[in-house]
Amino acid sequence: MAPTGRMHDSATTREFSIPVSQDALRRLQGAACIVCGEVARQLYPAGHAVSVSPCGQVLRWNVRACAPHTEAG
Ligand SMILES: [Zn+2]
Repeated sequence: MAPTGRMHDSATTREFSIPVSQDALRRLQGAACIVCGEVARQLYPAGHAVSVSPCGQVLRWNVRACAPHTEAG
């Protein structure tokens, strides 16, 4: 049997566990595309993401995406 990949089709909310990498931090801060991590000149609002610390504290971030990864809606 083939392993079943769980496709999580999250519309806009992405979850990161703390500690996050420098790359992930840039994405959370809206300095890089939340999808591909590219630091594009033009980044557009792309919903939000949350980060969860080991003690369960949830932080909410407004994130951005580059044009090809920007979803309408
Ligand atoms: Zn992108």
